[in-house]
Amino acid sequence: MRTDPAHPDPADPDPAHPDPAARPLGDGTRVVRAGLPEPVKNEPPLPGPVFAAHFHLPGDVEGPYTYGRDTNPTWTLLERAIAELEAPGDASAEAVVFASGMAAVSAVLLSRVRAGDTVVLPDDGYQALPLVHEQLRAYGVEVRTAATAGDAQLDVLDGARLLWIETPSNPGLDVCDVRRLADAAHATGALVAVDNTLATPLGQRPLELGADFSVASGTKGLTGHGDVLLGYVVCRDPELAAGVRAWRKIVGAIPGPMEAWLAHRSLATLSLRTNRQWANASALAEALTARAEVRGLRHPGLPDDPSHKNAARQMWGYGSVVSFTLPDKAHAERFMRALRLVEDATSFGGVRSTAERRGRWGGDAVPEGFIRFSAGVEDTEDLVADVLAALDIALAGASADS
Ligand code: PLP
Repeated sequence: MRTDPAHPDPADPDPAHPDPAARPLGDGTRVVRAGLPEPVKNEPPLPGPVFAAHFHLPGDVEGPYTYGRDTNPTWTLLERAIAELEAPGDASAEAVVFASGMAAVSAVLLSRVRAGDTVVLPDDGYQALPLVHEQLRAYGVEVRTAATAGDAQLDVLDGARLLWIETPSNPGLDVCDVRRLADAAHATGALVAVDNTLATPLGQRPLELGADFSVASGTKGLTGHGDVLLGYVVCRDPELAAGVRAWRKIVGAIPGPMEAWLAHRSLATLSLRTNRQWANASALAEALTARAEVRGLRHPGLPDDPSHKNAARQMWGYGSVVSFTLPDKAHAERFMRALRLVEDATSFGGVRSTAERRGRWGGDAVPEGFIRFSAGVEDTEDLVADVLAALDIALAGASADS
């Protein structure tokens, strides 16, 4: 993973720093403090959720909290925390939280472009992106698509107003060179947004790689317990931030205070969770390399994975997701049924491992036997043993069938 001296290893930022007070903090320390207010005697460290549709507002419309669709103190703390994690040490970074990842994605895409503009999307991104694609077309926006792999979006940038990158891509796990794409897009006058869902802000910091927007579904690894829907946008330019904030107000895509508070509470364990998930995903991918019936194995951490070179340069961790293909639909279904410690569910990034036969949804260009596997925080040996046992059962079923 990254060894760029300007971006020290988060786990060991600089043990020999000459000034202890200025020594950068590691990820585990940053996440437990992220967004917390200054301590106040007799107050809790993380104030509870503020449930308010409106706030007392005598006289002129002033002050940070006026109406519940515009602002909420629980969002403010979470937004500070997310901005600190996406852009450590950069006071200009501003986060805007949303009701879901798609609310955040749509806020950037639909608020920035006008009829006649051109937008470049990945052709292998999250399966709801084509729905936004259709909406953009209906508004008179030209949409061009290209693959994430090989930085293919470079070839369709000419005249674009906005480049949308998803890296690693879901579910294919391709990784593009964000800095290369961002430089090329800026040279043609386009804004750049990166979907950072799969990596989380501990795994990748798109703003430092040149993006104008880092956008994510907080429903996945960020909150990590499979019980909250959330999204966010982070940017440095106050005008861009004001644009997405205004969009949130117009469409009302706001998170509930309880969800925002739960998300903030979850951040404290983000480093612990992601480190275990990343280690489990790597161990699982490694174990799967030995299975003859597993084809198309993908995990950016595998040294010979097509994504590895870019991932090693621009990511701090390779993510919790492993993708692979079993011989056919029936084989994949037998595998899913045989898993004991892994839930058959969509989504990823949770503390409990989940997997699914992705083709059941339609919409992704994947084979029928394609499995998207999200490693949780279980003990590595238990998880790997469960998957290998399920593969054995699925394989035995194949021999019985033939
Ligand atoms: N972006 C990516 C890469 C995703 O995988 C998802 C959901 O799976 C989203 C965005 C949308 O997030 P949400 O489900 O929170 O709306």
